[in-house]
Amino acid sequence: MKVMVVGGGGREHALVWKIAQSPRVEEIFCTPGNAGIKKIARCVDISAEDIKALADFAEKKSIDLTVVGPEAPLVEGIVDEFEARGLKAFGPNKAASQIEGSKVFAKNLMEKYNIPTAAFRVFDNSIDAINYIDSIDAPMVVKAEGLAAGKGVVVAKDKDAAVSAVKSIMEQRIFGKAGARVVIEEYLEGPEVTVLSFCDGKIAVPMVSSRDHKRVFDNDEGPNTGGMGAISPAPAYSMELAEVVEKEIIQKTVEAMAAEGIPFKGVLYTGLMLTKKGPRVLEYNCRFGDPETQVVLPRLKTDLIDIMEACIDGNLEKVMIEWKEEKAVCVVLASGGYPGPYEKGKVIEGLSEAEAEGALVFHAGTAEKNGKIITAGGRVLGVTALGDTEDKARQEAYNAISKISFEDMHYRKDIGKIQ
Ligand code: AMP
Repeated sequence: MKVMVVGGGGREHALVWKIAQSPRVEEIFCTPGNAGIKKIARCVDISAEDIKALADFAEKKSIDLTVVGPEAPLVEGIVDEFEARGLKAFGPNKAASQIEGSKVFAKNLMEKYNIPTAAFRVFDNSIDAINYIDSIDAPMVVKAEGLAAGKGVVVAKDKDAAVSAVKSIMEQRIFGKAGARVVIEEYLEGPEVTVLSFCDGKIAVPMVSSRDHKRVFDNDEGPNTGGMGAISPAPAYSMELAEVVEKEIIQKTVEAMAAEGIPFKGVLYTGLMLTKKGPRVLEYNCRFGDPETQVVLPRLKTDLIDIMEACIDGNLEKVMIEWKEEKAVCVVLASGGYPGPYEKGKVIEGLSEAEAEGALVFHAGTAEKNGKIITAGGRVLGVTALGDTEDKARQEAYNAISKISFEDMHYRKDIGKIQ
């Protein structure tokens, strides 16, 4: 088979790495890919958002299966375009991707089908939103309705912070049309867990759980990032909870989508808060998470291509999906200044030494120049290690990291230590 993976971050490196293990796969293309992916796939410089160019390329190369990493092309309808041309693509179509593309759609779905989530109100103008903020108690959470590259959520400790969030989202439109409406939500507390699930339109099969670490500094301090590391399984996620979540949330969501006439095929990402009153959905995403994928896929024993095909064909129940018992820890190495402004082009040393320690070094923002690997993004690398215990996995990951260096590199020292 010829497989194409769309995207060029750490998540896509993990996808390409896992797909390359399938005996059914002869050749892998990645668009646009990165310096690490280049070692195991043919990278082609097409933007992940240029749907037409991607479909043209897939036609020209007779690609048998395209796997879409990021949300933007899914929400823009890449799967619909591929299907219209008779090409196979793994991921939800445009209608089903609304589950991530519109927080209002997701909240209304949960309300209609009794899926537990934070209480909420939707506003399409800032005056009504601000009046509402005045009438309730802080803290509260303000969310832009559309895609905002993971930055559209403000947890407001007081009313002033909530009002200023509404103004910047709805009046200044800092996220463009994603700020046409806002959701104002009840503030929830508890440990967070991510559950990715394979979905075939009718059923969902949850993967092993994971937990990402969004804040830039140790002890969950500093601003939010795309994710500074992850662990799998999530420590707070018991077997009992997993059963409740699977039945009351994940399966119900897939059934709700089918009942709405928009079956969900692909990976459903469910972000959960484990509150004292039970698990609540914080958000859905319509694809693999980054960096959660970098801890989940290394634990998957089954051929990923078999699973993806079954999702597309609607017969996921026929595939036996198996997981390693080992725990996984992934630590992200970031450029100095990230998540704020940062410089690119720093030479990265010690990559092969880190790999020789047995770690999986997934590239995110890297490029190649004059035979050297250089930094090319905020999140540069994700170093994953497996171990019989979480401590062992963590030690292995940090041991491998000690071999890697680039100017102004920074990373968290406590991945997996915080619940
Ligand atoms: P989201 O993109 O919706 O997952 O939000 C990003 C982060 O904001 C989550 O990972 C939570 O830490 C936080 N968050 C979102 N919704 C809530 C909520 N209702 N209560 C408390 N924190 C929240």
